[in-house]
Amino acid sequence: MEIPDDAYDKDRLQYNSKLILRHLIQAPIDSMRYIGVTHVDLYVPILKYVFGLAQLEGQCAVISIHRLRPQFYSRPPDLDLLIARSAKTAIHELGHSLGLAHCRDRNCVMYTSTRIEDTDLKKPDFCPTCLELFNWLMEKCLSPASP
Ligand SMILES: [Zn+2]
Ligand SMILES: [Zn+2]
Repeated sequence: MEIPDDAYDKDRLQYNSKLILRHLIQAPIDSMRYIGVTHVDLYVPILKYVFGLAQLEGQCAVISIHRLRPQFYSRPPDLDLLIARSAKTAIHELGHSLGLAHCRDRNCVMYTSTRIEDTDLKKPDFCPTCLELFNWLMEKCLSPASP
């Protein structure tokens, strides 16, 4: 998909992730959840940047590899590291899209990443508490007819 022009902020030289989400929501995709992956730098108005953003309890999310690339931090390219960071970011946003909030456990994938070090420190897995909630939410999501 093309990135919507109106999402670009000329002063910040960044893209408003909320506007990209709004654009993604309109996509006719027959899927329980879907995640847009972009290379442009994302922000939300109250923060300097974000690694990703999800529609809370919604269908879609967007993540950016812009600040996940080691080169952004003047490090040599490392594909394995980029993939690991991307997976953690995608799982984190998927968790939000199901209704999970941030977790205080630094190792949990739902721990908030304000810096790339947070992403590198956490694991691509949910802590036992978040996992239990994740499974419950997934079940609820897969059987919408049940009370
Ligand atoms: Zn988050
Ligand atoms: Zn957790």
